[in-house]
Amino acid sequence: MNDRFATKVVHAGEGKGKPYGAVTMPIVQTSTYAFADTQEILAFLEKKEAGNPNRRDEYGRYSNPTQTATERKIAALEGGERALLFATGMSAITTVLLALLSQGDHLVIASGTYRQTQNFILDHLTRWGIESSFLADGSAHKLEQALRPNTKLIFCEAPTNPYLRVIDLDHVSEVAKRHGIPTAIDSTLATPVNLRPLEHGIDLVIHSATKYLGGHNDLLAGVVVGARPQLDAIETLRGVLGGVGSPHDAYLLLRGLKTLDLRIRRQNGSGQQIAEYLSRHPRVHAVYYPGLESHPDHLVATRQMTGFGGVVSFEIDGDKDQTSRVIDRLRIPYIGPTFGGVESVAQQQAIFISLDPEERASSGISDNLIRYAAGIEDPEDLISDLDQALRESAVPDVSHR
Ligand SMILES: *Cc1c(COP(=O)(O)O)cnc(C)c1O
Repeated sequence: MNDRFATKVVHAGEGKGKPYGAVTMPIVQTSTYAFADTQEILAFLEKKEAGNPNRRDEYGRYSNPTQTATERKIAALEGGERALLFATGMSAITTVLLALLSQGDHLVIASGTYRQTQNFILDHLTRWGIESSFLADGSAHKLEQALRPNTKLIFCEAPTNPYLRVIDLDHVSEVAKRHGIPTAIDSTLATPVNLRPLEHGIDLVIHSATKYLGGHNDLLAGVVVGARPQLDAIETLRGVLGGVGSPHDAYLLLRGLKTLDLRIRRQNGSGQQIAEYLSRHPRVHAVYYPGLESHPDHLVATRQMTGFGGVVSFEIDGDKDQTSRVIDRLRIPYIGPTFGGVESVAQQQAIFISLDPEERASSGISDNLIRYAAGIEDPEDLISDLDQALRESAVPDVSHR
C-alpha cells in the first residue's frame, strides 16, 4: 500500500469490513477471550508457537483487537514492521530497556533524554549491574569513544526537552551498525510527521503517545516500533510485566491519530511563528527552536526533519519570580507539564523540578526558562497573548510586595 502519510493516518491498520459494518474501530472491552472448544485452543497454540502474527486474541494482557488496530496504524506511520502499545510512555521505555539489557551490559544514553528515563537507568538498571555512559548534547561525534566491548544499546532522544537538541541519526546508526549495537530513539517530540528514525537506520522508535500521537490531553499511552524478532522479544516481556494499554485508551489514540497530520502541520507553523516572534522580543534573551538558524542543531534538524513541532523554549531577561509573572499572565495556555495536545500548555520548567534552588541549579534548567507548547489554536492569538503577557508582567506587581 503506497498511500501518502495523510491517507495512512486515517486508514492504515484498520481496513474496511469491521464488525457490524462499523466505520470506526470498536472498543473491544473485554479482559479475556473464550474458545469454542479444545480443538480451537490447539489450533490457536499451534499458530502462537509458530509466531504467526495473524492469530486470534487469548487474554487482554497479550492483545486486544482495538489495541492491535492502533499498533498497525502506528507501525505504518513510522514505516516499521510492527508496533507494540503500552499503558504509558515510561512503560514502553522501561520494557525496552529491560528486554535488551542484562547484568554486565553497558548502554550509551544521550544526555538530553527524558528525566524519568535517566532516573530508571541511574537508580534502577544499576541495581541489576547495568552500567551507562552519557553522551553530552552536541557531542555525537564522540559516540564511538563512549562505546565499550559490552555496550548493548545506544539510546537517544530527538528533539530533546526543553532545549530541542537534535542528534544526527545517520551518524548514530552508522557507528552503531559498524559495531553491531542496537539503537533506540525516543521520538516523542518529533512524531512520524516530522521525523522517521527507521529511515535513518535506527532500530527502535519509542513514543510517549500521551503527547502528540494522542494529541488531546485525554489519555496515557506508549508505543515501540521496529522489526521482528526484536519486537517479538519486547512483546513477550510486555506480557510478563503487564504494562499493556487499555482498549479504551487504544481507541482514543486511534481516533487522535486520524488528525495527526493536520494537527502537526498547524503546530509546526505555530512553533516557527512563535519562535520567530520571541527571537525579536527585547525581553527575551534566548530562544531554543530547531527551526531557527540560531539553534545549534539547525542544520542537522533541517536535513533529517520535515518540521520542528510546536514546542518552543525561551529564556526571558529576568529572575525566577519575573518569569513566573509571565506564565501567570498568559491567558490562553494551561499552566502545567506535558505538551502535544490541542490545547496550548506553558510552564516554567524549573518550578516543576524542585523547591530547592540548589537542586534546580544542578538540573541545568535555569529559573528563567519557559517551555511553551503550542496547541492548535490560531497562532496569531497565541502570539498576541504572549505579547500582552511579556508586556504586562514587565511592570513589577506592587500588590505582591
Ligand atoms: C512524557 C514523555 C515520556 C513519558 O511518557 P508517559 O506517557 O508520561 O509515561 C517519555 N519521553 C518523553 C520525551 C516524554 O515527553
